[in-house]
Amino acid sequence: MKWLCAALLSLGLAGAQAAQSGVLTIRFLDVGQGDAVLITSPEGKTVLYDGGRSEVRMRELLTQYRVKSLELVAASHGDADHITGLIPAVNLFRPKLFLNNGISATTQTWAKLLGSVQAAGTAGLVASPRVITLGSVKLTVLPPPAGMPSTDQNLNSVGLLVQYGAFKALMTGDSETAETAGWLRAYPASFLGPVDVYKSIHHGAANGDNAAWLAAVRPRNVVVSVGPNNYGHPTAAALKLYQNAGATLYRTDLNGTVTVTVQPGGAFALRTEQGTGVRPPTAPAVPRPVPAAPPPAPGVFYPNCAAARAAGITPLLRGQPGYRSGLDGDGDGRACE
Ligand SMILES: [Zn+2]
Repeated sequence: MKWLCAALLSLGLAGAQAAQSGVLTIRFLDVGQGDAVLITSPEGKTVLYDGGRSEVRMRELLTQYRVKSLELVAASHGDADHITGLIPAVNLFRPKLFLNNGISATTQTWAKLLGSVQAAGTAGLVASPRVITLGSVKLTVLPPPAGMPSTDQNLNSVGLLVQYGAFKALMTGDSETAETAGWLRAYPASFLGPVDVYKSIHHGAANGDNAAWLAAVRPRNVVVSVGPNNYGHPTAAALKLYQNAGATLYRTDLNGTVTVTVQPGGAFALRTEQGTGVRPPTAPAVPRPVPAAPPPAPGVFYPNCAAARAAGITPLLRGQPGYRSGLDGDGDGRACE
């Protein structure tokens, strides 16, 4: 029994680790159903983008990864599975800034977080198109595009593009198709992708990631941050999209915390707490061909759904080239479903 305790103890200690200096470390934290991403620059400056749904769990993780300070915390949006863990993070480290979408949630959790932010002297920073410098790492804020209804938190998710050398990571909260379509109008595909490590939108929900968006993002590795839930996350449709994109798939419910370390210049490695990422069965030959960026030119016309299906682009979403109401019998913005 004694040796067993010793073994467990050493395992526990091995699990506790500070981010290495000299490399960028991004941890997709295992917070169950929710999102929390811890980003530490080679200089040791740290940002927490979302905090998951549990204060207790976040305290454990901040201890496990020996976080000593936070420059900034960010809420992709105001839902509890993203902001609850920000409360202890703010209380413990009094970060300078709290990046958010500027739309108050109507929950007690939001009120509690704001109380902590005020008590800590943390300044609110409403998302706008700006670059935040985290040591030698560039964080580009993707604010919600114009025209998103202010009553909808998901559609006002704040995205973050992380760049270090040639490396890119992208996370966009629980955004939905209308928001990603807005971003596609605002940013060229060459700016968005290809993304080395991509956080699946909305825990793999059906209304998050979509073919047009992923065609621009071109993810090489996808991390789904997910735990036991009643929503059916991640959906088979989302997993199929990642597979079609040729991405290797990681899931925090199966792999635990997924840690990315990036060397100066951009070479990177992914590590999991358990298991490995799953490659798509039909992985394209290496190097993966980069699709000829943005969506086809406007003016594409499909005489009928059979033609659209043959082109492999169904369902056609409103705003996508080739979409027209004549193909969208039920008028829900998805033609040739
Ligand atoms: Zn969520």
